Amino acid sequence: MNDKKTALVTGANKGIGFAISQGLGTAGFTVAVGARDDARRAEAVRRLQAAGVDAFGVALDVTSDDSVAAAAASVERTAGRLDVLVNNAGISGRFDGDAQDPTTLDLDVVRTVLDTNVFGVVRVTNAMLPLLRRAESPRIVNMSSTMGSLALQAGPILAAYAPSKSMLNSITTQYARRLADTNVIVNAACPGYVATDFTGFNAPKTPEEGAAIAIRLATLPDDGPRGGFFDDGGVVPW
Ligand code: NDP
Repeated sequence: MNDKKTALVTGANKGIGFAISQGLGTAGFTVAVGARDDARRAEAVRRLQAAGVDAFGVALDVTSDDSVAAAAASVERTAGRLDVLVNNAGISGRFDGDAQDPTTLDLDVVRTVLDTNVFGVVRVTNAMLPLLRRAESPRIVNMSSTMGSLALQAGPILAAYAPSKSMLNSITTQYARRLADTNVIVNAACPGYVATDFTGFNAPKTPEEGAAIAIRLATLPDDGPRGGFFDDGGVVPW
């Protein structure tokens, strides 16, 4: 078994997921780089290793039961442990034309977005929980968005993406309640508005800045908090 703590980051090949991987690696974790594309995953592992991070690749498409099960087996085989899971992989869904106008909503877009942003998180979390439960201080971080906040009603109208993050926040609280009497601490994070492919690189925060809240929640002390939604400013109403 690896004697260093191990963190699995989904969607780790670019953007905020890559920055979370780098940040956790710099903080001393072995990083399991979860990514669905072989070439992009290999390149991310190479870049992380070049930056001094102890990283290994894990083939992981969060929409595939088989891929997720194989990823859990791969983490077990390679590291023998899992201390942190960051459910970062996410998609906005098509927003060309009226695809995410609620009055003309394309339900296929909703299905696709939910399959990645919500069901993907459940798939990966449940596959990894047996490993996480064996860790001393396991942490799960779900990358959400203030666009999912019913209290803030932030951002443009995106009737697939925004509700997917509302549901993710809700599921985060369900996990936190279910795991309340265990050492597994689960929270949701909003990275802020970050310059990545996701935003066409047209946003004020760097991926490293966006990664900071996830890294903080991934390294929380044993007294929590649990089941919350946080950004750099603290608790986010949702
Ligand atoms: P990017 O589009 O840059 O990266 C998304 C990552 O998710 C990529 O690695 C992508 O892999 C991966 N991914 C997508 N679908 C799957 C899948 N089915 N299986 C495995 N991996 C997948 O986005 P960001 O880094 O900006 O976003 C990361 C998270 O932060 C998302 O959950 C997003 O909703 C959230 N967020 C981002 C904000 C921002 O301003 N950027 C604001 C609020 C929240 P691939 O390269 O193969 O496509």
